[in-house]
Amino acid sequence: MRDNLVVHGIILFQSAVGENDKRFVILTRERGKITVFARGARRPGNQAMALGPFAVGEFEVYEGREAYNLVKSAIKNYFRELASDPGKAYYGFYFLEFAAYYAVENADETELINLLYVTLRAIERDRMDINLIRRIFELKVLAIEGEYPNVFECASCGSKDNLNAFSFKRRGLVCDKCRSDDDMTDVSGSCIYTMHYVITADTAQIYAFSITDEVKKQFMYIVAKYLNMYVTHDFKSLEVLESIGLK
Ligand SMILES: [Zn+2]
Repeated sequence: MRDNLVVHGIILFQSAVGENDKRFVILTRERGKITVFARGARRPGNQAMALGPFAVGEFEVYEGREAYNLVKSAIKNYFRELASDPGKAYYGFYFLEFAAYYAVENADETELINLLYVTLRAIERDRMDINLIRRIFELKVLAIEGEYPNVFECASCGSKDNLNAFSFKRRGLVCDKCRSDDDMTDVSGSCIYTMHYVITADTAQIYAFSITDEVKKQFMYIVAKYLNMYVTHDFKSLEVLESIGLK
């Protein structure tokens, strides 16, 4: 007898298999990032026909030799509004791919799932400039994965005073005594506060703040350049975003 298992999460990718089937990559609370095969999912009338990227809910599966197999699903949000707006959808695909890059099988990915959910809601509801949402999301993923820059003390001497510059080379803030001119940018107290907030705030509250244009510019510049230097993976969805002029 096979043991069915109910997992909760979000579909990151789908691909067609054979004539009638689909394969999904699902980020789940219980099993981390898993591959789920759905037999007959491309046949009209099949319950899994409507499933695709962004679908959030419950999936009943059983373990096969190489992947899990889908039995049935109960979807709580398809994010259809987002999926039907190309500008938003491409950002959404990028967020899914970015999360997929960090997620692994058999790990607890609850925080990453929660972050994706609030992020997709934020773009669906135009809660903030979509480019700012993107930079907040990226920094928060780095925070969840423990790869974030040191914005709590001087990355060179550990001092908590006179922090007025961010060093890309030293991966964090540097104090006035330690600053040199190589690869560094000035940073305001408000921008430091914003980085603290994104890194430490509860995921549900992550988009519940506002900043001035000046702080936004600084924050976005630092996150963008930091990612450029330290996250070297080529994201396919990012190439698409850039090719349609939406970066
Ligand atoms: Zn220092």
